[in-house]
Amino acid sequence: MSAKDKYAKLYASKVFCMMPWIHTHVWPSGKAFPCCMSDSTVEYGNLNDNSLAEIWNNEKYRQLRKNMLNGDETKECSRCYEMEKSNVFTLRKMVNQYYGKHWDRVETNGGGFEQIQLLAGENPNDVVRKWTQPFNDAGIQTQMLERGLV
Ligand code: SF4
Repeated sequence: MSAKDKYAKLYASKVFCMMPWIHTHVWPSGKAFPCCMSDSTVEYGNLNDNSLAEIWNNEKYRQLRKNMLNGDETKECSRCYEMEKSNVFTLRKMVNQYYGKHWDRVETNGGGFEQIQLLAGENPNDVVRKWTQPFNDAGIQTQMLERGLV
């Protein structure tokens, strides 16, 4: 992809987002989502059933990336689209500015995490917590947010 196309995706596209190439968002229950802003009724997998690598490369994640590259909207991302109609500087716009430096992952269709956000509820879930140490050891940022999601 040319540099012009890259910058068009990062800064002119109304749907492209770096999130599905650099981040995943996991609830204490093990449910995984593209990010904290995506539709929480649409799971992208569950760590109780699949590994993070399997979720990262599953059909939903691949379709989300294809939609973004093709300029097609994805229902799960409608919160960002709606806010941008009101000129809100959304998470989508922020991550494209900050994480555009990882563009090579887009060209190779994934390939690594920058950040895994794990939500720890009032009853911290071992299924989620056990993931933290190996990723930290590998130099991948994990965020533990104290929230009461189940
Ligand atoms: S477009 Fe918005 S909702 Fe979709 S993955 Fe990016 S930040 Fe999340």
